[in-house]
Parts: sequence; C-alpha cells; structure tokens
Amino acid sequence: VESRDALAARDAADPLSSLRDEFVLATGDEIYLMGNSLGRMPRASLDRLTGAAKEEWGHEVVDAWAHWVDLPTAVGDRLGEITLGAAPGQVLVADNTSVNIYKLLNAALAARPGRRAIIASADEFPTDRYIIEGVAAAHDLEVRWLTPHAIVGPTAAEVAERADADVACVLLSYVHFRSSAIADMQAITDAVHAVGALAIWDVSHAVGAVPVALDAHDVDLAVGCTYKYLNAGPGAPAFVYVRRALQADLTQPIWGWFGQRAQFGMGPRYDPEPDVRRFLTGTPSILGLHAVDEGLRVLGAAGIDRLRVRSTELTALLVALADEWLVPLGFLVGSPRDDSQRGGHVSLRRDDAPALVPRLRERGVVTDFREPDSVRMCPAAAYTSRVEVYDALARLRDLVASG
Ligand SMILES: *Cc1c(COP(=O)(O)O)cnc(C)c1O
Repeated sequence: VESRDALAARDAADPLSSLRDEFVLATGDEIYLMGNSLGRMPRASLDRLTGAAKEEWGHEVVDAWAHWVDLPTAVGDRLGEITLGAAPGQVLVADNTSVNIYKLLNAALAARPGRRAIIASADEFPTDRYIIEGVAAAHDLEVRWLTPHAIVGPTAAEVAERADADVACVLLSYVHFRSSAIADMQAITDAVHAVGALAIWDVSHAVGAVPVALDAHDVDLAVGCTYKYLNAGPGAPAFVYVRRALQADLTQPIWGWFGQRAQFGMGPRYDPEPDVRRFLTGTPSILGLHAVDEGLRVLGAAGIDRLRVRSTELTALLVALADEWLVPLGFLVGSPRDDSQRGGHVSLRRDDAPALVPRLRERGVVTDFREPDSVRMCPAAAYTSRVEVYDALARLRDLVASG
C-alpha cells in the first residue's frame, strides 16, 4: 500500500476531492465512516430547507400546495435520471422504505393471484424480513428463505432452485447491508421472470454509491431510502419504482387520497391515478422532499459514475490496508475483494467487533457494529479522503495491537 504522503498527493490531485467542501464535515480529527447509515449534511441543504421553510411554509402557506403537489414525482424523475437508470414517470418519493416495501409486496401479490410463495433472503436487512413475514402471515403464504453465502450473497442459481409457478415475487437487496456484496440484478431478475414472478429490488444500500440500472435490467419494482448515500437527512422520504408497463394493473394496499385520481374531486369511491402516483398514500413530507432534491443535486453535479470510481478506489484501499495491517491481527475481510462485486462500504470481521466499535469511536473513528462480528466502514466518495481511510485503519490497527 502507498504511503500516507502518497495518498495525500492523490487526494490533492483528484478533482472530486473538493466536493467535500460542500458538506458539513466532522470537526477535529474525527473520521466519519457511516455515510451508508446516515449521510453527512450538504451545506446547500441547510439553506434550501431554511429557504423553503421561510418562503413556502412561512409566507405561501397553503397556496404552496399548487407546486408542492408535484414534488414527489418531480424529485422521483430526477432520482430516476441521476441514480436509478429509470426513465421519467416511474419513480415516486414518499413514505419510508418499510412502508414502501409493504405497498410493493401487496401490489405484487395481488397481481399474481393464486400464487402462494415469496422468495427472500434469511440474511436480508431486518425491516425487509419483518415486513415479508407480516405480509406472509396476513395472507397465509409461504416464505422460501434463501441462505446465501455471507460474503457472496444470493445468486441467480439459488433463486432459480427455489423458484416455481407458485412464487408471486422475489425481494432482494442490490447491495447487501453487511457484506456490501452487489447482487447480479440482471441474472436474478431473469430467473424470477422465468417462472412468471415479479422482481422487487431494495436498492437502499446502493443508491448514490453504485449506479443502478432499473430499466435496463428489466426490474419490475424497487424501493430505497434517501438518507444514506443521497444525504437527504434523518427520516427523509424513501422512493418506489414501478415499471411503467405494470403501473395501471398494480393496486397498492393503502388507499389514500393522494393516490386518488382528481384528488380534490373528493369522489365517493377510491379510483386511483392510472400512473405511478397511485403509489402515494397521504400528505408527503415536503421539507424532506426538498432535502432529497438538494442531496441529488450535489451528487448529480459530481456524476454518479465518477463517484463510483472514487468509491471503488477508497474501498479497495481500505481492503488493502486491512490485508496488510489487520488480517495478521485476526481480522477477516467480510466483503467481496473483486471491486466490481463490492458496494460503497466494507465489513471487517473479528469476534470482538462489538467491543471494538465503541473503543474506536473514542479514538475518533465513527463506524458501526453489525451482528454477529462485523465492523462496518463506509468511505463515502463525496466527502471521505484517502488519508482518512489510511488514518482510520491505522487507529484500528493500533487499538488492536495495543490489546
Ligand atoms: C436502510 C435500509 C432500510 C431502511 O428502512 P426504513 O424504513 O427507511 O427505516 C430498508 N432496507 C434496506 C436494505 C436498507 O439498507
């Protein structure tokens, strides 16, 4: 691995390095490696939120609904273009990821009447598993839980092995929240379609870090959150993607008035919009939408493909330093080594991970612990430097080496 000075020179020569100036950064020598959990605040978002609160909420008040009402789809279209590989009219920003998973699962089940099974991963992000369990219990369905390799993640072959004509839908993460493994979206989606089921992808841990190509990969439905790599802030609204060809035939389970055709006709019965807007429920979070839009603007200006190149370099550096310093101290790299298979974060595994995370925090490195033995580290391309990766791993090495 290169010296700290050489890495500092690389940082200085990288035109993307100045992007970090657009964020509210950690103070002192703190190193923030949790951009995959809660991204840092773009400076412009503070101004945007303050401006929207003062002008729109403060002065326009109820009149602002004339333009607020378009925000979920307008921001959805920008999200689709900048990060999701989705043509306009298919993405909506509203509710949270958990609620959106509930909506999409129920919509998929209703679109495949008579089919009694869902395929998902036993190693999936908890909220996804719980919502699948709850929906399955409510409809008396079978869940076929895959048990993928902890680092590789679920494969198309594993999906194909469990898939048959009784499967209504398959829900998987594109980037795994612990291992960071990137799933083969095209091959798995093809395996799902081969049995006539619908493919639902959770791209929460990918969006903003790994380019997503929902249209190109024939994905049916997708969800994701905006407070990780999109830096939209705590509780910012999540999104749904519904492939255009499916929209008119899918019915979501929460029949709210924002999904109603001619909402202010206030008609006697639910008659949903013919397009993606039928996936709206109630009043959207307007300030949250402003924050999503601003977070997107910052990433969009830099370009997701360029950010991905930098992200890959940062995680590869992290893995190389771990090999040199930490593997000899008993760590295991819990993420794929192949750059093309690894998302924006890295898991380092060791039995005492639960104790290491708070002690590393005392040394100014912010990471988190994930059961059973992972320290997760995310060098977000937008605001983490190579030198920070070097220093964070050096502090972890010194902590462990000192016993
Ligand atoms: C972060 C994340 C979520 C978050 O769900 P919320 O409803 O926003 O709390 C869900 N699924 C995955 C895979 C995630 O990474």
